[in-house]
Amino acid sequence: MNISEVILCKYGEVVLKGANRQSFESSLIKELRRRASPHGSFKIYFKQSIVYIEPQDEFCDMDGMYETAKKVFGFMGVTRAAVCEKNMDAIKELARAYLPEKLAGVRTFKVDAKRADKRFPLKSPEISAEIGGVILSAVRGIKVDVRSPEVVVGVEIRDDYAYVRAGQEPGAGGLPPRSSGRGLLLLSGGIDSPVAGCMMAKRGMEIEALHFESFPYTSERAREKVMQLAEEMCEFCSRIHVHVISLTHIQEVLRDNCKEDYFTILLRIFMMRLAERCAREYKCHALITGESLGQVASQTLSAIGVTDSVVNIPVFRPCIGMDKNEIVIEARKYGTFETSILPFEDCCTVFTPRHPKTQPKLSEVMAELEKIDVEALLDEAYQTLQTETKLVYPEYR
Ligand code: ATP
Ligand code: MG
Repeated sequence: MNISEVILCKYGEVVLKGANRQSFESSLIKELRRRASPHGSFKIYFKQSIVYIEPQDEFCDMDGMYETAKKVFGFMGVTRAAVCEKNMDAIKELARAYLPEKLAGVRTFKVDAKRADKRFPLKSPEISAEIGGVILSAVRGIKVDVRSPEVVVGVEIRDDYAYVRAGQEPGAGGLPPRSSGRGLLLLSGGIDSPVAGCMMAKRGMEIEALHFESFPYTSERAREKVMQLAEEMCEFCSRIHVHVISLTHIQEVLRDNCKEDYFTILLRIFMMRLAERCAREYKCHALITGESLGQVASQTLSAIGVTDSVVNIPVFRPCIGMDKNEIVIEARKYGTFETSILPFEDCCTVFTPRHPKTQPKLSEVMAELEKIDVEALLDEAYQTLQTETKLVYPEYR
């Protein structure tokens, strides 16, 4: 039997979006079409709250397309299904041909049938019972378990065709790409900031990144590591413009003029001010950092209070309430962990004070800033901005 297989993607929160629903749906379709092209020629459209991805010829890479669909935010579930005409004989024949391979080694199953088309002559429980019977006779050793089956076999009677599938995997969740505006991620080479960026991308933000380097105190390799992280994030974020600004001169001026224990907080003030400037120029409407409350000296409540007070733009810190091990789990999920732990220096580790202030007072911080020409230093540093663009695959636009 010649089986034709498709990929079905089920919406997550998009279904709740009432009047905006159409624009959400079209951003999902647009993104899937862009992301599909390296995998071959697919027809992609939505109908009845589901996106259909149909291969157009035998050269299509279904495995690759399936993996890609699982990384597009906005879908709750992604599944491969086989298609046939809407009659019980065809559905049974398809179940017999398609499911044994999918259910090989599986011990228990149940069938969950759904009729989107209520004119179909059999009711859902009847369809489930008949297809269950087919599976029991076609798959050796398998048993029915309606309470906790290893695999749920789905049979869906939709408008045009019937679909048969074994199991369903979770989608990436969240909201469709580019549905929530653009944010500027302060991207270091660590574990936390790539996770923070992916978490905001999951809420529909388009991610742009800003990295601070301190060449020659930080190496070329450290910068390459950050570029590699940005490229890995593109699996979920598709495209990231990465801006790089040099903090070298600012750090030397701070070292030579300010109290050592204020160095960390002062440096963070410069980072935030430069990030705000970059966000305005590139039309980003929020800053995103990987800070987690209390993780290091610069992430105490008073330090965060000081860094927040020097900018006038929302600052999102999605990792703020997470433990390190929770952040690591996310980093593995987004595929950035292994690169994050490569041992290269970060500008924050250059001239690190022996006893950084954990409870900085704004007035004392301001007194330190009085000693140097902040605006001139900001202007000079901003001049060093360079941009590289990272894409999920070379032709993605
Ligand atoms: P991460 O694991 O993200 O590097 P961290 O635990 O090392 O975080 P910090 O070094 O205090 O923590 O940095 C806190 C946040 O400040 C980072 O998550 C990131 O958003 C930003 N940041 C730190 N260093 C840089 C840098 N060199 N360039 C851009 N942003 C940075
Ligand atoms: Mg860091």
